[in-house]
Amino acid sequence: MSEDIMKAVIDQIKSHDSIIISRHKRPDGDAVGSTKGLAGIIRLSFPQKDVRVVNEDWSDYLAFLGKEDKMPETLSGALVIVLDTGNVERISNSRYAEGSMLIKIDHHINNSPYGDLQWVEDQRSSVCEMIADLACSNPDVLKMDEQSATALYTGMVTDTGRFKFDSTGPRTMALASFLLEKGVDTETLFSRLYMEDFSFLKFQAAVFSKMKITENGVAYLIVTPSMQARHDISFESACNCVSFLDSIKGSLIYLAFIYSPSGDIRVRLRSRFLAINTLAEKYGGGGHEKAAGATVKTRAQAMALIADADRMLGEFKRSHEDLL
Ligand code: AMP
Repeated sequence: MSEDIMKAVIDQIKSHDSIIISRHKRPDGDAVGSTKGLAGIIRLSFPQKDVRVVNEDWSDYLAFLGKEDKMPETLSGALVIVLDTGNVERISNSRYAEGSMLIKIDHHINNSPYGDLQWVEDQRSSVCEMIADLACSNPDVLKMDEQSATALYTGMVTDTGRFKFDSTGPRTMALASFLLEKGVDTETLFSRLYMEDFSFLKFQAAVFSKMKITENGVAYLIVTPSMQARHDISFESACNCVSFLDSIKGSLIYLAFIYSPSGDIRVRLRSRFLAINTLAEKYGGGGHEKAAGATVKTRAQAMALIADADRMLGEFKRSHEDLL
């Protein structure tokens, strides 16, 4: 089944001379890694094609993966491939519909289908895994170099929490091995991804002192604008605080609320064993079963979301005593 869709994607790549590759706004390692990786594979395999990674925002911490490209004058006749983006509102390219063909490649639950062709597999660890599979399964057509392998490996590592989340399956590891064989320098990559500024660790200590836990074990953090200012931490960096909560015993749901410069509150929801994407959806967001996000406007909405999460976790624990 996925072989057929992969073949259809490759046929479209073959039949277009101009290819635009885009991703979601506020990109993470999977979004940047998959777009850069796919672009690199197509350029190496079909040097005559005009391939551009085109988006309207950026994440500084991923700058080591290289610059993106300029939007061409016209997208007429182009194939537009959008990666890692569940719905059209999140696409970081407002001209995504101007090409002659639109392909969606994604690993989020497909609540908002779009495009002329879709390759969506919500059980995949990452879109980078899917693009690695595309190349690995079609070695006669697609070539990959170390640079593209590094971009794809970056997304696999970051979207699986370093191969720790349960989305990591046998195929994930086989494809990680395929990428490593291309020469990925993991020591350099891990230093770029995981070494922290001293000020960030001070921020972490301050945040730890503020974390809270509900009656049923939902751990949460509220990161105010003043905490971000006091430690001179960017909003983007502050958002990483969700990972601080990832291994508290009994805390099968954990939540981070981060005030954005506009005054909205970004919510990052994470869980083990039970799904929290429906909770994110209730508050206008979405995402994966165990990693989802939303944006709320007020502290009262944040508190209501926490109360809902607490109820869900209470119910789950009552019916799964053996797990805990
Ligand atoms: P995050 O906490 O931002 O890393 O989000 C976790 C997952 O949820 C990501 O895969 C996002 O694509 C998805 N997500 C985050 N925020 C939203 C939103 N407002 N609407 C829909 N999906 C979201």
